[in-house]
Amino acid sequence: MEQHISDRVQSLAASATLAMSQKSAELKAQGVDVINLSVGEPDFPTPAHIKEAAKKAIDDNFTFYTPVPGYMSLRKAIAEKLLKENNVSVAPEQIVVGNGAKQALCNVILAAINPGDEVIIPTPAWVSYVEMVKLAEGKVVELPAGIENDFKITPGQLEGAITPNTRMVLLCTPSNPTGAVYTPEELQALVNVLARHPQILVMADEIYEHINYGAPIRSLGSFPEIADRVVIINGVSKAYAMTGWRVGYCAAPLWLAKAVNKLQGQYTSGCSSIAQKAAEAAYTGSQECVEEMRRAFERRRDLVVELASKIPGLKVNKPTGAFYLFPEVSALLGKKFGDKVIATSGDLALYLLEQAHVATVDGAAFCAPGYIRLSYATSDENICRAMERIGAALAKLS
Ligand code: PMP
Ligand code: GLU
Repeated sequence: MEQHISDRVQSLAASATLAMSQKSAELKAQGVDVINLSVGEPDFPTPAHIKEAAKKAIDDNFTFYTPVPGYMSLRKAIAEKLLKENNVSVAPEQIVVGNGAKQALCNVILAAINPGDEVIIPTPAWVSYVEMVKLAEGKVVELPAGIENDFKITPGQLEGAITPNTRMVLLCTPSNPTGAVYTPEELQALVNVLARHPQILVMADEIYEHINYGAPIRSLGSFPEIADRVVIINGVSKAYAMTGWRVGYCAAPLWLAKAVNKLQGQYTSGCSSIAQKAAEAAYTGSQECVEEMRRAFERRRDLVVELASKIPGLKVNKPTGAFYLFPEVSALLGKKFGDKVIATSGDLALYLLEQAHVATVDGAAFCAPGYIRLSYATSDENICRAMERIGAALAKLS
C-alpha cells in the first residue's frame, strides 16, 4: 500500500541518544570492541531490596491493571519523599506516575501546550524536549548558554525571552547533557523573574537531583513565589539505577494533574504493577544505595575531567552534577582525516565511533552543535580506555 506517515511523526527527529546507543550495540554484536559513552544510564544493577520487592509483587498477585495515575501507596511515598527531601508539599492526587520521566514530561507538555504556545528551553537541552514540544505544536524558544557560562542562563536572558505567548519554561538541573547545576541562589534569581509572569508554568526536570557533587540542591517546587505553578518531573531511573523499569512521575497543580490523568487514561493506562511496587520500595527503603552510586559517579567525574582536559582540541569544564561531560570541539572542526574533512561535531562523533570505537553523541542533538556529549556512567577502566582512544584518534587529524 502507499506508505502514509502522519506529518506529526514525519517531522519528529529520532532520539539521537538512543540511535547512537543502538549503533554501538550493533557494532558490538559484530565483534567490534566499542566503548559506549553515548546513552546516559547508570551502569549499576538495580539494588537487591528493590528487585526483591518486584518479585514479591508478582507472588502477591499485583498483576492487574493499575490505577491510571499509579497506586495510591506509591503516590503517597512520592509525596512523602517530596516533602522530606525537597521541602515540597503536594497531595498524592497531584502526582501522576507514568512510564518513565519521559512519558511524564510528554504528558504535561501535551496537556498544557496549545499550537503556537511558546516554551522556553535553555540549551544545550536533552534531546526529547524540543521534539515533545513539536508534537504539541508548540513553539520552542531556545535560550543558549555555552561552556563559557558553565552552560547556565542568566535572569536577564530569561526575562528577555518572555513574551505574552510564553506558556512554559523547562529547566533541567542537574542538566543533561552538560552536568551543570544551578545553585539555590542562581535559582532564586530565575524565580524572581518568573514570579513577575504568573501565566508561565515552570517545568522542573529534577531526575538527576541525587547525582550532585556540589552544594545541596534546591527544588524549584520549594520556592513559595511560584510553587503553585511548578511541575516537578522525576523518577527512579537515575537515582536507583532503574532505567528499564520505566517509572517516572509529574507532581503538578491539581488541575493539570487531572488533565494528565485523562490523557494517560486514553493513551497508556497506569504503568506496570510490578515496576510500581519496585519503585515504592526504592522510595521507602534505605537510601544508602543512592549515595554509594553518587560517590562512584563523582570519582568518575574527577577521572574523566582530568583525562579529557589533557586532550588537545577538547575544551572542558568541571560539571557538578549528572554523569555527562560536554566538551566544546570547535578547535577540531575543519581538520582532516586523510582527505575526509571533519566539518561538524556530528562528523566528529562519527569519526570517533569508526576510528576510536568510542560512541559519543553529537551536541547538535542537544541544540548545541560544536560540542559532543560523553556519558561517564561506566567503569573507571572504560573511561581510561575511551579517553586514551579518543586522544589517539584526535592526534591523527591534520
Ligand atoms: N529527563 C532527562 C533530563 C533525562 O536525561 C532522562 C533520561 N532519558 C529522562 C528525563 C527520562 O528518564 P526516564 O524516562 O528513564 O525516567
Ligand atoms: N537520558 C538518557 C540519555 O540522554 C537516556 C536516553 C534517552 O531516553 O534519551 O542518554
